[in-house]
Amino acid sequence: MSKAIDISGLEAHVKMRRDSRAKRMALRLDPANRCVHFVLPRFASHKKAQAFIDSHRQWVIDRISELPEYMPFEDGVNIPVLGRDVEIVVEKDLTRKSTHIELQDHILLVQTNLDDYAPRIKRFLKKVAREYLTDIMDEKTANLDRKAIKIQIRDTKSRWGSCSVDGHISLSWRLIFAPSEAMDYVVAHEAAHLMHMDHSKRFWALCEDLCIDYDGGKSWMREHGHGLHRYG
Ligand SMILES: [Zn+2]
Repeated sequence: MSKAIDISGLEAHVKMRRDSRAKRMALRLDPANRCVHFVLPRFASHKKAQAFIDSHRQWVIDRISELPEYMPFEDGVNIPVLGRDVEIVVEKDLTRKSTHIELQDHILLVQTNLDDYAPRIKRFLKKVAREYLTDIMDEKTANLDRKAIKIQIRDTKSRWGSCSVDGHISLSWRLIFAPSEAMDYVVAHEAAHLMHMDHSKRFWALCEDLCIDYDGGKSWMREHGHGLHRYG
C-alpha cells in the first residue's frame, strides 16, 4: 500500500500496523496506552482499509471516550489503595532535604521539597505493593508443594501476573488499586500455576480453593482490570 490511509481526527487514538499473520482487518482497544490498534493483513488494499476505518470512526471515538479518566498522583486526588479510599495530601516544604511519604488510613501524606513528586509516590506505592503481594503469595503457597522462587513486581501493560515454568512469578504493582478480592484472585491464580502450568480443570479447582472470593475477584478483574492503568 503506497498511499497513506486517512485517519484525520483520529491520529492520537489509532495506531496502524501490518501483521502478516492477521487474517482480516481488526481494531483492538489498548486501554493501557489509550489507543486502538488497527491491525491490517499484509495484503489488505488501501481502498478496503480506508473504508474499514471510515466505517469505524465513531466506534473508535466511543471506545476511547468510555475509558476511565486519568487519576494523576497530585495533591487532593483520591485513589483507592488496598481497598481503601485514600486522598493524596501534599505538604510542600522547600527547607526539606528529602521526600517523606506515609500511608495512613485514608491519607497518603507526601512531605516534599520537590515540584515533581509523582515519581516518588509511584516508587512508594510500588514498595507497598511488593510487601503486600509477597505476603499474600506466601500465604497462598504455604500449603503447596511448590513455592515461588522469586517474585517480581512490574508495570506490565497487558497481563497482571505471570508464572514461569521454573517458578518465577511476576505481578503488577497496579494491583494495589484493585479491591482486595481482585488482588487476591490474581495472586491465587499465579500461585496455582506453580502446581499446574495450564488452565486445566485441576488448575481452576486449585485456584478457586486458594481464593478468598474467586467469583468476585475474577469478574472484577475481567470487567474493571483495564482501569488500573489510569493511576499515576
Ligand atoms: Zn493463567
